[in-house]
Amino acid sequence: MLGGVRRLSLLRSQALVAGQWTGADNGATFEVTNPATDQVLGSVPDLGPAETGRAVEAAARYQTTWETTPAKRRSQLLHEYFRVLEAHSEQLAELITAEQGKPLAEARAEVAYGSAYIEWYAGEARRIYGDYVEGAPNKETLLIRQPAGVAALITPWNFPFAMLARKLGAALACGCVAVAKPAEDTPLTALAMAELAQRAGLPDGTLSVITSSRRNAAPVGAALCADPRIAVMSFTGSTAVGKLLYAQCAPTVKKLALELGGNSPFIVFDSADLQKAVAGCMASKFRNAGQTCVSTNRILVQSGIYERFVAALSEAMDRQLTLGNGATDGVNVGPLVNDAQMNKVSGLVSESGASGGGGGARRRPAQPGRPLLRAHAAAGLSRPDMVCFKEEVFGPVSACARCGPQGGLRLRKRPCRSANNTDAGLAAYMFTENISQAWRVSKRLQYGMVGVNEGIVSQPEAAFGGVKQSGLGREGSRHSIEDYTDIKYICFGTQ
Ligand code: ADP
Repeated sequence: MLGGVRRLSLLRSQALVAGQWTGADNGATFEVTNPATDQVLGSVPDLGPAETGRAVEAAARYQTTWETTPAKRRSQLLHEYFRVLEAHSEQLAELITAEQGKPLAEARAEVAYGSAYIEWYAGEARRIYGDYVEGAPNKETLLIRQPAGVAALITPWNFPFAMLARKLGAALACGCVAVAKPAEDTPLTALAMAELAQRAGLPDGTLSVITSSRRNAAPVGAALCADPRIAVMSFTGSTAVGKLLYAQCAPTVKKLALELGGNSPFIVFDSADLQKAVAGCMASKFRNAGQTCVSTNRILVQSGIYERFVAALSEAMDRQLTLGNGATDGVNVGPLVNDAQMNKVSGLVSESGASGGGGGARRRPAQPGRPLLRAHAAAGLSRPDMVCFKEEVFGPVSACARCGPQGGLRLRKRPCRSANNTDAGLAAYMFTENISQAWRVSKRLQYGMVGVNEGIVSQPEAAFGGVKQSGLGREGSRHSIEDYTDIKYICFGTQ
């Protein structure tokens, strides 16, 4: 019975600061609930700026030890951490489903996906290279990479395991110790990861996890930004909070890695393979009930295939999507994470309907918990200025717009203009069987990531990240190393 979290071994009720499980100075806690049932899963400390300062101090004390730990040893410890995470994947998945709501199969996939970053960076720890460049006569020019220092990792609720794992793997591989602040909706997974880090033998100072309620998120964030002992601020979350952190980090000139909101276009060209396009759209749109920053947000369909695509997508939604408690077999769309999200998404659907599309949000009560948002196909929505095309929906709502001669978007004439018409630039998708079109459009899309005939692009080997207001830096691949290291130029005079 998942509502009660069957295996309690990983359920922690304290924060971890440099090896010590601890509470708030004033004893304050906040509750974590299951979004499918509203059942309270546990309580965790509501830490504030004072406790944050002490966590940073403890981390900073340990930084020198970790950065001088040989790369091979750091690599071994990360490999061991990967093994321990894998060995506990079922307990972790159950915890994710319980506090976040996603279907158990997706929670298992998240653990596999997130752990793969720990494994990848266990390897990368040994491949942090420098350069030798021939410079002026009698000057030997060396560029080496060194750990930047303590990293603050602020993570969101949509992938409570993977978002922390991909930051943590890179930070630790580079020789940076981490102070993590998970989202208030989903702190239990991060605490379980901390527990498993201890069991894997990662030294006490390498990972601290400080928990705080929504009320304390801003003061804790401000304390991390203001602290000169924090060298790197790595954040995944909303664009608004990302901009705030960017500004707050200016006085101490930190390195910043920001993974912010997206507004992904999903372009279906006349030349697309219909079945592939529908499958790609289903995967990209409905994973995690649409609560991913790379979720398809705007479906732009060329006129020649529009009717067929919309019919096939609606049919796939009716046939394939089963809503309910993510812990129940067969459910593949769980509840939205909290009431605020539920109200936001419902509002976006209603507003979009009101501005020309038809249809409104439909709620279905998940007995006995919070309402689920019915997966919603809004095929009649065709105005490019409708609100659900402008804002990140973050819910199981698919709106399609016709592009081309009879549609408003004239996609054929200006293939990327509609797709690029946003401040966000995270992921874009395109379905076409025309190879030159695929290449031409890929180059013109103003996005950090492009899926060509593919709706799921994220993997540890890839550089995940956005352009424009979707963020700074990249996660995964060797490029994340740049976010956690500084280049030092050493010039040897040889005269
Ligand atoms: P969402 O609106 O989807 O919850 P947020 O950007 O608000 O996304 O949350 C992402 C993470 O940022 C969470 O860990 C949250 O606690 C944290 N957070 C929210 N507000 C602030 C803030 N002012 N400073 C630092 N972190 C914050």
